[in-house]
Formats: sequence, structure tokens, C-alpha cells
Amino acid sequence: MKYTDGKNIMVYAQSADGAPVGAALETVSKAAELAKANGEEVIAVVFGKDTDTKTVITAGASKVLVAGEEGLPAEEKAQILVKLAEKYQPKAVYMAGTPEGKMIAPAVSAVFESGCVTDVTGITADGVYTSLSYNGNVLNDMKMGENLPHVATVRSGSFAKKLDESRTGEVIAEDASADTVRTKVVETVKEIAETVNLEEAQIIVSGGRGMGSKENFALVEELAEVMGGVVGATRPAIEEGWVSRAHQVGQSGKIVAPKLYIACGISGATQHVSGMIGSGYIVAINKDEDASIFDVADAGIVGDVTKILPVMIEEMKKR
Ligand code: FAD
Repeated sequence: MKYTDGKNIMVYAQSADGAPVGAALETVSKAAELAKANGEEVIAVVFGKDTDTKTVITAGASKVLVAGEEGLPAEEKAQILVKLAEKYQPKAVYMAGTPEGKMIAPAVSAVFESGCVTDVTGITADGVYTSLSYNGNVLNDMKMGENLPHVATVRSGSFAKKLDESRTGEVIAEDASADTVRTKVVETVKEIAETVNLEEAQIIVSGGRGMGSKENFALVEELAEVMGGVVGATRPAIEEGWVSRAHQVGQSGKIVAPKLYIACGISGATQHVSGMIGSGYIVAINKDEDASIFDVADAGIVGDVTKILPVMIEEMKKR
């Protein structure tokens, strides 16, 4: 199933409990800017009839297609998006670079035999996509082939969410459904994910294996609390059971872009750094002065986290 002549940008506006997630709104706003430059429009797709379409319009969509249900598996959502892309023939399909977005994007592009770029941090109106490689040290500029739609997932925090209450748009109910679904949702577990809003946090204090124990990890939680931030963690800290998986930052966790990221007892493995390299200012605390986290840090403290964090907490409490 191929096409080479398309118009407009389709954005899958992912939602949670009916509210579009921040990264999806950022994607809609960026798409609106690009579409405007080309005299085109943004066609957003939301799942679930109760999803807040108004905010999606406010972010820049001029049409919002409402299909399926929010809780459908990614496989099913991908098939529905394919049908909608076939119907509307967009030039591009974008979505937030969430774990779900990263499952859906390649499934959509594979059907159309079109290009797919993940974790983009820049898009130009003439279709140049920028993404990070080499552990965030190299920016790749890419153009995709002639088959449409060009599919991209957008790295959270890369673009501003621009809400404009004066925008208007059309909401269209679509009855597209998936044909063959091999995945079945057995149970939806509501983790504390809703309260762990890492992707939108301005301050994140993250702890790694170097915290040593659950008791010591409480220092990370306390520092985050006194600073008005959110707790992040590396995979080992989660596997140790010090904190729930909803806090994981990195390749198989969340991609974050806070203004301030404080890494405590974290070595700086690629799989972790790829999830936080977009942070505005990175502070690393590690007892090993050669730890690779210092290569990406703006400020580094060489020392024992169990001694440094209590001092930082006390100082912050005085403010
Ligand atoms: P370590 O690498 O063990 O580092 C601990 C650091 O703490 C060391 O640098 C040490 O010097 C320091 N330290 C020890 N004691 C102290 C102290 N008292 N004071 C100060 N510093 C101290 N990891 C993720 O984080 N997120 C992911 O999403 C992720 N996805 C992965 C996906 C795949 C497919 C694979 C293979 C791995 C993934 N990983 C992920 C794991 C990743 O490769 C690393 O193993 C992990 O990030 C290391 O975590 P860490 O820095 O906490 O632990």
C-alpha cells in the first residue's frame, strides 16, 4: 500500500484518561507551525469519544478525528491510524515519542513502505528531520524517501506547546476499526504513573545504583520534594525495588527534558543518558571522578551521595 502524493500532517494525539499528554500537544503545535508554512492543516487523531478534543484544537489541529477507545492496544491503534492515513492521505504522520508512540510509528510506516524517524528534536517545513545519535553528541539531519506518509516520533520537550484558545476546529467521528488483532488487553494496571509526570517535570532528581539501598534512595525523594521536583531513576534502582518502574528514565523508560536534572549515583550509561540528554542543566554527583555521567554534566560533584544529599536537602530547606 503506497502513495507518493500527500497533503497535510496527521498527528496521533495520545491521551491518558481523556487528557492529551503534554508531548502530544507539543507535537500538534509543531505540526501546526509546519503545516501553516506550507498552507496545509493538522488532522489530529484521538482515541476515545470522551477525549478532550478542545485542547487538541487549541494546540493547533483544525480537524480532530475521534476513533476507537483509549485503552486499545498499540497494534490496534496502528491499524486504525493506517486506515485513516489511507483515507486522508497525509504527507506525514507524527506522534509523541512515548513507549506507545514508538510501537505505533514503525507499524504505520511499514504498511506504507515509507520512512520512519524516531525521537526527532527538529523538523523543517521542507521535511528535514533532526535526531540525536552517538549518545546525544551528534545531530543527524535526515530526509525521507518519496513514499508517504513520512512517520516520526517527537522527543518530548523538543517543541513548545502553544495553546491558543481562539483556535477553532472540526471534530469528526470515524468508525475505522482494526482487522486482525493478535494482542489482547488482559488488564490495565493503573500505576502511580499519573502522579509521576516525568515528561513534563521542570526539575528531576534521579537516583541510580550508587544510592546503595532503599533507605538511601529516600534522600533522592526528599531532595526532589524540597526542590518541587519529580523523582527519576535508573533501571538498576528500579530492579532493586527502591522505586516503581514509572520513574525510569532512559531508552526503555521515559525521555525527559527538565530545566534541571540532578543525577545521583548514576554512572552515565548510554541507555540512561539517551533519556535525559535533552535536559537544560545537568548536575551529576558520583564518587568516581571518571564516571561518564560527568561527560554530559554541566556541573559535577565528586563525592559520596549519602554525604552530599543531606547537605543539599538542608540548604534547600533554608530557602
Ligand atoms: P551503575 O552503572 O552501576 O552506576 C552506579 C554509579 O554510582 C557508579 O558510577 C558509581 O561510581 C556510583 N556510586 C556508587 N556508590 C556511590 C556513592 N556512595 N556516592 C556517589 N556515587 C556512587 N538504564 C536506565 O537507566 N534506563 C533505561 O531505560 C535503560 N534501558 C536499558 C535497555 C537495554 C536494552 C539495556 C541492555 C540496558 C538498559 N539500561 C537502562 C541499563 C543501563 O545499561 C545501565 O546498566 C544503567 O543505566 C546503569 O544504572 P546506574 O548508573 O544506576 O548503575
